[in-house]
Amino acid sequence: MTRDNSQYQKRQQRLKEKVDARIEAAQQERGIVMIFTGNGKGKTTAAFGTVTRAIGHGQRAGVIQFIKGTWENGEKNLLAQHGVEFHVMGTGFTWETQNREADIAACQFVWQHALTLLSDSSIQLVVLDELTYMVNYGYLELTDVLTALKQRPANQSVIITGRGCHRELREFADTITEMRPIKHAFDAGIKAQKGIDW
Ligand code: ATP
Ligand code: MG
Repeated sequence: MTRDNSQYQKRQQRLKEKVDARIEAAQQERGIVMIFTGNGKGKTTAAFGTVTRAIGHGQRAGVIQFIKGTWENGEKNLLAQHGVEFHVMGTGFTWETQNREADIAACQFVWQHALTLLSDSSIQLVVLDELTYMVNYGYLELTDVLTALKQRPANQSVIITGRGCHRELREFADTITEMRPIKHAFDAGIKAQKGIDW
């Protein structure tokens, strides 16, 4: 028993030394680009979780949503009250009519707000929710997105969410998490619900 414990302590000590060395080695301070991608649930909620964390520290954050908008969204209701600037593509975005020109115009309109946030050094965190689709559909030029990310203030972090993230965006990002679906309630016929899905 005592021998087990001393082995355990030795192992923990070695682990602590490794972790401490890695913490010591990480000395850079700058904003980062994070991507939450993959087919599993949790991309947008992880982005909003990070916004909550930032504003909880008194930082400023802004959110651009490239798809959702015609329906209510719980995070917006809460976070807007805490000074988080929201721009939702929403109106004018026409999945229904399949009007590509109108979709591009709506996307470009909201992208102008993204550019404003991405050049404001008083904003510590910018969320570009569902941006991956805009690049994949050709509504936004990949080079415009990369240029804006490269030119952003050094202290600013950005979160991009959406499935099928373009390779060049992935190459540029600092942190990428892929949400992998193990199970989803929807597949068992359970309806999307308020407070869980939006
Ligand atoms: P969330 O907003 O819940 O974090 P997400 O951003 O990862 O989800 P999206 O691809 O943006 O997922 O999907 C939007 C909606 O579809 C959300 O209401 C989400 O709950 C739901 N959803 C996400 N993943 C799946 C899945 N694998 N099957 C069915 N529905 C899903
Ligand atoms: Mg999402």
